[in-house]
Amino acid sequence: MTALARDELAQANRILAHLGILDAYGHVSARLPDRADRFLISRSLAPALVTEADLMELDLEGEPVGGDVRKPYLERFIHGAIYRARPDVQAIVHSHSPSVIPFSVSSVRLRPVCHMGGFLGGGAPVFDIGHRFGCTDMLVRDAEQGAELARSLGSHAAALMRGHGFVVVGGTVQAAVYRAVYTEWNARLQRDAISLGGDVTYLTEAEAALADEANAGTVERPWQLWLRECGLNEQA
Ligand code: MN
Repeated sequence: MTALARDELAQANRILAHLGILDAYGHVSARLPDRADRFLISRSLAPALVTEADLMELDLEGEPVGGDVRKPYLERFIHGAIYRARPDVQAIVHSHSPSVIPFSVSSVRLRPVCHMGGFLGGGAPVFDIGHRFGCTDMLVRDAEQGAELARSLGSHAAALMRGHGFVVVGGTVQAAVYRAVYTEWNARLQRDAISLGGDVTYLTEAEAALADEANAGTVERPWQLWLRECGLNEQA
């Protein structure tokens, strides 16, 4: 992976922490462009603290390669399993951001309420780890549990994880970050719309698809803003 791509993944960690999408927990990864069977992710560390030096290379079973003995994230299996199931996916965010979790435990489904949430138009399936694995600590601890999550995600952009959080995928690191941020936004807006007490009109599936297509070309704009807000795009 080029130094530039490693730099971008480190930046993604800092941006998602700055925006409150990741806190001490959660992670973002990127598939290696020249090795589809490997991905980069930080060692076990709060995302706000991640620099390029903290990135580890893992195979799709979640095993570190190259003799790296640093401690990886416990839930790294989320990433390997999704990369295995989804050749189109180049980056993944796993988050516990607070507005989204209620939708993982409620019968009210997360649906797009604004154009920025267009990628949610196909729905966001809820992965219930208990359905297959019974009583657990809710964490995705091995490749089998990761594969089950990937099955729930299917071809969608996002999946919620009951009582835990969510995953979003993207064709680029910037797209995955964008989707993670606007999953949280959409959840907050949907909750606000519901709390008004009237009927809520969601984007139709066709509207959401058009909005998603339109937004896909604009992810560079918020990315540049977020870099600036994090003090990460100081020009030499
Ligand atoms: Mn988690």
